[in-house]
Amino acid sequence: MGLRIVIVGVPGVGKSTVVEKAKEAVPGSTVQVFGSAMFDEALRLKWVKHRDEMRKLPVEKQKRLQEAAAARISRGKGKVVFIDTHLFIRTPEGFWPGLPLRVIQPMKPTHLLLVEASPKEILARRKNDTTRYRDEITEEEVAGELTLARNFLSAASLVSGAPMAFIRNDEGGSAKAAAEIAALVRGAKA
Ligand code: ATP
Ligand code: MG
Repeated sequence: MGLRIVIVGVPGVGKSTVVEKAKEAVPGSTVQVFGSAMFDEALRLKWVKHRDEMRKLPVEKQKRLQEAAAARISRGKGKVVFIDTHLFIRTPEGFWPGLPLRVIQPMKPTHLLLVEASPKEILARRKNDTTRYRDEITEEEVAGELTLARNFLSAASLVSGAPMAFIRNDEGGSAKAAAEIAALVRGAKA
């Protein structure tokens, strides 16, 4: 069986940036963006126009999108598949898990990687990224999200049996973070 590497981290930490670079560094690897698979389904159902509207939908509707995305991604095969997703989503009804049992189990992850940076860096990245509609929150709240992320990651590791690791994505350091992921892949294949 191939490697199925789930990449998670709080919004704006740089997951998609790092994972695209990791794909370049690992020949034959592919990337599945969980949120894009959810968004395709949301567009088909005409529930939203922009991907950042999805997290404002009633959780029941988000669940339907999540299940459609999990089913699609679970069917994907490949030697090394990177899955770019979220541990939790900030909804009006509370923090909602991105990797509950019914989602993580069919995806059969072999590794869980949490991308991290400092709260200050994360806030600055969210502010600079004009392609996305980000929730306005403080540095302290971002620090809270980072703690929450580690808690959700432990739970995901526990239920899936996949090891978890932390990848630092320092300012200007996305290539280094990607190289760390590539090294982990080489180690796992050896
Ligand atoms: P989301 O959870 O919303 O999908 P994400 O974690 O995938 O976010 P990205 O979209 O990859 O985050 O990055 C957010 C912003 O941060 C982008 O503008 C990106 O260019 C920038 N960025 C990513 N990594 C770094 C880094 N190491 N140094 C500086 N800027 C970075
Ligand atoms: Mg992303």
